[in-house]
Amino acid sequence: GSEIEVSNSNTVVPNDLSAFWMPFTANRQFKKAPRMLVAAKDMHYTTSDGRQVLDGTAGLWCVNAGHARPRIVEAIARQAAELDYAPAFQMGHPKAFELANRIVDIAPNGLNHVLFTNSGSESVETALKLALAYHRVKGEGARSRLIGRERGYHGVNFGGISVGGIVSNRKMFGSLLTGVDHMPHTHNLAKNAYSKGVPEYGTELADELERIVTLHDASTIAAVIVEPVAGSTGVLIPPMGYLKRLREITSKHGILLIFDEVITGFGRLGTPFGADYFGVTPDIMITAKGLTNGVIPMGAVLVSSEIHDAFMQGPEHMIEFFHGYTYSGNPMASAAGLATLETYKEEGLLTRGAELAPIFQDALHSLKGEPHVIDIRNIGLVGAVELDPIAGAPTKRAFSAFLKCYEDGVLVRTTGDIIAMSPPLIISESQIGELIDGVRAALRSID
Ligand code: PLP
Repeated sequence: GSEIEVSNSNTVVPNDLSAFWMPFTANRQFKKAPRMLVAAKDMHYTTSDGRQVLDGTAGLWCVNAGHARPRIVEAIARQAAELDYAPAFQMGHPKAFELANRIVDIAPNGLNHVLFTNSGSESVETALKLALAYHRVKGEGARSRLIGRERGYHGVNFGGISVGGIVSNRKMFGSLLTGVDHMPHTHNLAKNAYSKGVPEYGTELADELERIVTLHDASTIAAVIVEPVAGSTGVLIPPMGYLKRLREITSKHGILLIFDEVITGFGRLGTPFGADYFGVTPDIMITAKGLTNGVIPMGAVLVSSEIHDAFMQGPEHMIEFFHGYTYSGNPMASAAGLATLETYKEEGLLTRGAELAPIFQDALHSLKGEPHVIDIRNIGLVGAVELDPIAGAPTKRAFSAFLKCYEDGVLVRTTGDIIAMSPPLIISESQIGELIDGVRAALRSID
């Protein structure tokens, strides 16, 4: 195929950084000492000062096939020239249908229909609205409550922060959605510290759902939403049997189970989806990020035929579900998605994490005993190192570790005092070693 030449020689870094109010960023700190990325290829970023940085986070958990992969680059370039945009409502274009089919091919059995969005947050809103509307079209409109979980992250829109459980993402924004309740989170350092893979203790926390159902009565509850592995809150891995138990309880009570697989989707755990890893199929599955390798914004919500079919009634000229975005399934994103899924397939990336997981696990747990470390946990190609916070200055220690890693050529991510790692699924064994050694050196050098 044709190669597209990229030159960084004329990359200009502006002097004035004040206009861009950056997302989820310490703006003042950043603008004093900017960390600018100007190029990327495979496992590495290039910084504006010409350094190579090993990508230990797949961008933001999204660049699962690594950077600037030829198939994806070419598909986007070709699509821009061929069909740049087609109206999303009452019109179609072939690639969106093709992509939906390819997604269904690799999805857990029973999830046969796809709604497209532009992000994880939009996928979350779409899923929650679907759940409410589904019960309504079935004549059970009293099922209007949504149940999330403490420490859950479901993006930043109003539905998502309502069912989410990260306090700093919620507290500034008023009363949020009403009729929402939360299950307890599953983090338990006293019992589960240094667990490798799925932790042993805490299955009974799923029974808290039964208590919540009893409190509100099942007839008022529409859906339960969880991340199979909670990522953004600092990698919380579900206790053994926990998700199976949630499935049993929701099925028993006619409540929909929604998995937010924005992070766990597309090979992160060594299986195509988290649902495959845990052997639990939800009624609705939320995806984004890895769907297009992070290259063009896109999300997808997968639903069962039962949900889809419930809407397909009434006069045929009528719209069945009053929801959608200008860019739902847009041609550029669809082309990027198709090329991404082809790349995953050609290189076996949706299951490569399973081969690398034991190597990653050994390397990660070799950090036990390093300064400040109070827990290490891992599953598939996700790992976390939890640090003892500096008294009176939570998050500062992990942030220092992040800065030190970056200076030394390794990109990691922190939330609170937790360092998270989720490298592209193309990472080599020696690069796993490099990543972990980078974290080790940072831990030894910070206060
Ligand atoms: N849901 C989960 C589980 C996520 O991890 C994220 C992002 O990290 C989102 C939703 C939100 O996705 P986005 O930032 O694309 O809106």
